[in-house]
Amino acid sequence: MCFPVSAYRGRLAPSPTGLLHIGHVRTFRVAAQRAKEHQGTLVLRNEDLDPQRSRPEFARAMIEDLRWLGIDWTEGPDVGGPYGPYSQSERREHYLAAWRRLRDGGFIYPCTCSRKDLAQSASAPNEGDDEPIYPGHCRGRTDAASFIKPAGVNWRFRVPYGGIRCGAAILTRPGEPSEAVTFIDSNLGPQSYIPGCDFGDFLVWRRDDVPAYQLAVVVDDAAMRITEVVRGADLLKSTARQLFLIRTLEYPAPAYFHCDLVRDATGGRLAKRHDSLSIRHLRESGHTPGQVNEIAVHA
Ligand SMILES: [Zn+2]
Repeated sequence: MCFPVSAYRGRLAPSPTGLLHIGHVRTFRVAAQRAKEHQGTLVLRNEDLDPQRSRPEFARAMIEDLRWLGIDWTEGPDVGGPYGPYSQSERREHYLAAWRRLRDGGFIYPCTCSRKDLAQSASAPNEGDDEPIYPGHCRGRTDAASFIKPAGVNWRFRVPYGGIRCGAAILTRPGEPSEAVTFIDSNLGPQSYIPGCDFGDFLVWRRDDVPAYQLAVVVDDAAMRITEVVRGADLLKSTARQLFLIRTLEYPAPAYFHCDLVRDATGGRLAKRHDSLSIRHLRESGHTPGQVNEIAVHA
């Protein structure tokens, strides 16, 4: 007897920095559904990269709550699998290898700007995006190769920009090649972002020696052979950044499916720390998994 073999590999990638809430559930349900439709594999990755904010008890609660909701994965920190470890805190060697490749190729540079320097620069943080556009002070540095370790300075990826007029962004430098990042999102359609306008030279490694989100995700998605990334639409610009890293590191690019964000009654984004909407709270107040899934779908 012959079974259809599917190469589809999707992932759930929660951060254990708090309790899972209803806003996550919808995205995770979509991710699980798409893996199922493609008779694919679903991977759970514990994104506990940030030692200051991640807690093992939240990681345990996250796994328990997802299982309780009926979401099934077949590779993850609790069940193992061929591409482990599945917790980012245990994958430092992978990130370091990528950092070395980027350093050797001259794609990243050390940045010693202080928070104050960055706060005083003209570009404000983009809406819905936690990383302000970097004004470019250290972009011309050529001493990357003299660093044998990333610790002690911030490391930024030098995005190709220049010659583009884009309002208040001060990254434009005539003469440098510029290039829009375009991709087709399986849910939201064609997307286009302009480096220097929509985002600047982004962090790949933090001065406190923690790999930045963008680098870790790209390295892990490639290492775990992820073929489709399902996540919230708040990460669309992160996808644009990550596509530069993917191309530079010569990884295959996954497909993307960005889910619409769950909004509250006033149209604002549901806050992650909204405790009354945590799965744990809903569960303890007597809701069934089916009811919680219903709330997530209609939120
Ligand atoms: Zn700098």
